[in-house]
Amino acid sequence: MNSIPVNQPLLDGNEKKYLLECIDSGWISSEGLFVKKLEEQFAARMGRKYGIAVSNGSAALDAAVVALGITSGDEVILPTFTIISCAAAIVRSGAVPVVVECDRHTWNMDINQIEEKITPRTKAIMVVHIYGLPVDMEPVLALADKYGLHIIEDAAEMHGQTYKDRPCGSFGTISTFSFYPNKHITTGEGGIVLTDDEQIAEHCRSLRNLCFQPHKRFVHEELGWNLRMSNLQAALGVAQLERLDEFVARKRRIGQRYTELLSDIPGLQLPLPRLDYADNIYWVYGLVLKDEVPFDAQEAMQRLAQYQIGTRPFFWPMHEQPVFQKMGLFARVCCPVAERIARRGFYIPSGMALTDEQICRVTQVVAEVIK
Ligand SMILES: *Cc1c(COP(=O)(O)O)cnc(C)c1O
Repeated sequence: MNSIPVNQPLLDGNEKKYLLECIDSGWISSEGLFVKKLEEQFAARMGRKYGIAVSNGSAALDAAVVALGITSGDEVILPTFTIISCAAAIVRSGAVPVVVECDRHTWNMDINQIEEKITPRTKAIMVVHIYGLPVDMEPVLALADKYGLHIIEDAAEMHGQTYKDRPCGSFGTISTFSFYPNKHITTGEGGIVLTDDEQIAEHCRSLRNLCFQPHKRFVHEELGWNLRMSNLQAALGVAQLERLDEFVARKRRIGQRYTELLSDIPGLQLPLPRLDYADNIYWVYGLVLKDEVPFDAQEAMQRLAQYQIGTRPFFWPMHEQPVFQKMGLFARVCCPVAERIARRGFYIPSGMALTDEQICRVTQVVAEVIK
């Protein structure tokens, strides 16, 4: 019986050709031309002026937070249901993360609970689009406008997705993407920061490169990091970007097929196919076990593993992270929806290379183990 991994990327376009160009020309560091190409082409595709390629999506968030001048004494609002990278970037900057509960249907932050979290110390709202459906941006933009707040848009799961026909990653002061192999396009490891603000773009470039100064190279006014992306990674990215539309269509098809095959299985909450402002792009295909199922996601994932089917649990809420609790953060926070889906949610194989036969097999086994 063949195993079905939770993710497998597709690398059968120009990836090999462009990688060989790097090797043949000797341009393998971050100085190569593919880095600039990826930055320009990706920014243009997302409707942004500037792109700053970095080493991964978490680093992109680190740079974004610092580039906005967020520091100790500030507060940043973010969803509790997200990856640690979001809260980590805020905490490392010295600011305080303030979490918002998620919506039980979209799993995105409940935008109706944002305004009550705004205080005089709030500097930014970090919006994270989760699993394939965008956050309802218009009300969030209106709030940011009303209170003079920045928006940091984490679009790491949204390459090629749109909100009301405008690209995700084009909203707010700054947006970030990841190019990890399970994202819609990959560079192996990698990420990018996008903005329309020239000064912020320049600040991100400086932060990426240890804050070396042009005229006094080894004299530093600020602490940066080495977050540079190599030309090898960017070569993959340029090849992948050529196929973004195809990849999004492919993911949508995988999601639609899963929904057709799983919708008559009792006990499962499936991802919403669409909202009135976007069709799901199914970064991953998540399942939440309804209350009638007498076991949790961990048990379901163990059962699927016995059939060699790869899964991953849903995110664990930020307010329940031991690392933050030990810092005294989120002491009285309670978000029952996020707490529930963290325990009852998991995702099934959703990678770009997934075949129809594999989808069939996964759904048969899911039906068998949920019974
Ligand atoms: C994947 C992901 C990241 C982190 O990206 P890495 O490249 O793995 O560091 C950040 N935010 C979200 C929402 C993600 O899905």
